[in-house]
Amino acid sequence: MAPQILKPRLDAEKLRENALTSIRLGVEDFERCRAPGDGGDPARALSAIRNLFAGVLLLFKYKIATCVEAPDDAEALIFNPPEVMPHPDGNGGIHWGPVGKFRNTTIDVVTIRKRFETFEIEVDWDVIEKLQSCRNHLEHLHPAHTLGEVADFVAELFPVLQDFIQTELGETPADILGAAWQTMLLHHNFFVENTQRCADAWAEACVPEGMDTWLKACKCPQCASTLLAPFQANLDNGDTVEHNDDKFTAECIACGHSLLIAPLMINAIEKDHGYDPRSGEEPTLESCDQCGRRAFIVPDQACLWCAGELEYTECEDCEEGLGQEDQDNGGRCSYHAHAYEKFMRED
Ligand SMILES: [Zn+2]
Ligand SMILES: [Zn+2]
Ligand SMILES: [Zn+2]
Repeated sequence: MAPQILKPRLDAEKLRENALTSIRLGVEDFERCRAPGDGGDPARALSAIRNLFAGVLLLFKYKIATCVEAPDDAEALIFNPPEVMPHPDGNGGIHWGPVGKFRNTTIDVVTIRKRFETFEIEVDWDVIEKLQSCRNHLEHLHPAHTLGEVADFVAELFPVLQDFIQTELGETPADILGAAWQTMLLHHNFFVENTQRCADAWAEACVPEGMDTWLKACKCPQCASTLLAPFQANLDNGDTVEHNDDKFTAECIACGHSLLIAPLMINAIEKDHGYDPRSGEEPTLESCDQCGRRAFIVPDQACLWCAGELEYTECEDCEEGLGQEDQDNGGRCSYHAHAYEKFMRED
């Protein structure tokens, strides 16, 4: 018989209460960090994310604890189990068994996810992981530069929380979260409407098709919000992003900061194609010989901005892929172009 392993006591109702309190505090912090005018307190952005993240995890643990009937089983699911270690049996063999007691710490995100799989509880983990990485990297940033990012997260968290509370807990979010839920709802609607408004407006701005993904990757450099809209004056002027990138401006709906959109998009590509010259690898991003924008993707042999492609894509002698720098060689790689030239001279 397995020895009885002692566990700390667990109060599921307390978990639920703490979860809801934490979420409410998170929403209050969120409201305070972005109060209009000078009333806002950016330092609260971090505590908003911390509280929201903690609250969501507590709510998840509460759900796990309520998946089983016996309090003892609930405790075994929520607290970190003792480590399983090998024990020599004295006859040259080993048996495996737990060492010590259940710990006082409760399970982390990774383990919560495993428990959810066991009980077939579904959650949009992409959003939860984003929330976690947001919380982790915000610790190292100046709070004022993160207000927009935090706002985006509160908006994204809304449907996840709504779904979880309704489907998994069988409760009504507005009933258990009160005013905090109304705040989240209004903010979520604001975010969804403005995301759509921005997308519609950019559709008029003639962004090169290949750059679409990179437009979506743009964030305000001041506050990290994704709510960037094209300048109405540029649109009224008939400017296009494709041809007037030297003056086409975007404005952040969250903080009002404005800047040229093209360098922001190029910057997003550069971040994705970052390479270390010491690694011995070749860079995968170049300036395009045809349009001059830094949007030529080497492995694709094409430019995201002007859709320009290479005339010669592979060497006719060795079939090696060719780059922009090989185009003057008449369809050969530099090695075979050189060999060919030598051959012709000797002829
Ligand atoms: Zn901004
Ligand atoms: Zn180009
Ligand atoms: Zn060749």
